[in-house]
Amino acid sequence: MVENCLFCKIINGDIPSKKAYEDEKILAFYDIAPQAPVHILVIPKTHIACVDEVNGETSAIVAYIFEKIPAIAKEAGITNGYRVISNCGADACQSVPHLHFHILGGAQLSDKMA
Ligand code: AMP
Repeated sequence: MVENCLFCKIINGDIPSKKAYEDEKILAFYDIAPQAPVHILVIPKTHIACVDEVNGETSAIVAYIFEKIPAIAKEAGITNGYRVISNCGADACQSVPHLHFHILGGAQLSDKMA
């Protein structure tokens, strides 16, 4: 738990969220400002700032998140594909410095967005 971290507060229950999945290692919850019909954020419960901090000590939780993403997407009703995005740093417009993976789906997405 990192003080003043929005997503640590959501993990802690200090800020409410609409949960899509939770276990002892990760939390998935619906984005408050959805950019697709289904927009879920998946976060590790341990604080990692962004992809820059993925290393030999932290990569296992990233692998774990990716193992869980297909079932989280399916359970949320996504049936025809989805996009996974992780913004890292200022130029990527990362607004919450706690590693998160956006799952976007539920409609045809733009082919302009990476
Ligand atoms: P990013 O811009 O990649 O850092 O993504 C942060 C995301 O967190 C944005 O899509 C926000 O809409 C979302 N967000 C911010 N506050 C909340 C909240 N309280 N509950 C759910 N999603 C949030």
